[in-house]
Amino acid sequence: MEAPKTLQEAIVCFSDFENCRRFVVAIRWPDGKVRCPQCGSDKVTYLAAAKLYKCYGDHPKPKFSLKVGTIMEDSPISIDKWLTAMWLIVNCKNGISSCEIARALGLTQKTAWFLDHRIRMALHSGSFEKLSGHVEVDETFIGGKARNMHVEKRQRRITGTGSKDKVPVIGILERGGKVRTAVVPNRRKKALQSKVREHVEAGSALYSDALLSYEGLAGEYAHQVIDHAVSYVDGNVHTNGLENFWSLLKRSISGTYVSVEPYHLFRYLDEQSYRFNNRKMDDFDRFKMAAEQMIGKRLTWNQATGKGLDLQTRLPN
Ligand SMILES: [Zn+2]
Repeated sequence: MEAPKTLQEAIVCFSDFENCRRFVVAIRWPDGKVRCPQCGSDKVTYLAAAKLYKCYGDHPKPKFSLKVGTIMEDSPISIDKWLTAMWLIVNCKNGISSCEIARALGLTQKTAWFLDHRIRMALHSGSFEKLSGHVEVDETFIGGKARNMHVEKRQRRITGTGSKDKVPVIGILERGGKVRTAVVPNRRKKALQSKVREHVEAGSALYSDALLSYEGLAGEYAHQVIDHAVSYVDGNVHTNGLENFWSLLKRSISGTYVSVEPYHLFRYLDEQSYRFNNRKMDDFDRFKMAAEQMIGKRLTWNQATGKGLDLQTRLPN
């Protein structure tokens, strides 16, 4: 199989199940030996007609599909549609709405929405590696379009604890490198500084605006402040890299998704960060890495919709 380079080539390539199968096997088992998700045995045969594998181990339910053990598990959507949706999400610069995915793949919007959320979950970077060098930190507010929303949704938004319908988000950017983003409960010192310490190596050069919440970081970082009331750039001291990221994010959220509920915001942040952090890759590599990250992850409908969770904090009620 030759690696597709464009969306059209990807659609053609993955419309053939054999190509999907070879692709998924290659990313899950680089040695080419498919292993049973239950017992780990590689004594399995492929049942081509059923598109299933059969394990010879001594346990019930010996048959399994390639979706088991990935974000695709339990999904009735075929692998070719999963892969095409993933291609669209990681390669459309401003994101793609579940309505567009639904239309493109012939799915209902609800199905496409759940599929999107599972793909975004795969895009989440669990990296513990800290940012270093020249690092910018900044916060912004996302949301505030409650006026155009359905009454029930609007109430859910507005009754959430914290900042009404706007959600504070922190961004931390290593210049020339990667960005980390997170929803924070507020813009107070504790919330912001704990994120800085979590993501930035001590001793790095740190740039922020004059928000008082950043005061007290100078002991661990070479912290320099740009007072936006005075100017936006002073030599090296600015947060323009993050300003650019925020404008991309806001264009994608307000242009493509119209409105995002606070509970789901972190997944859109993950999606935008993934595209940004892998901006130097070509489309196939960006897609392939996302596909590799879908292994070993699960997201249930209740988790995706936040049933039983505090909508603002995503923690159990
Ligand atoms: Zn087995």
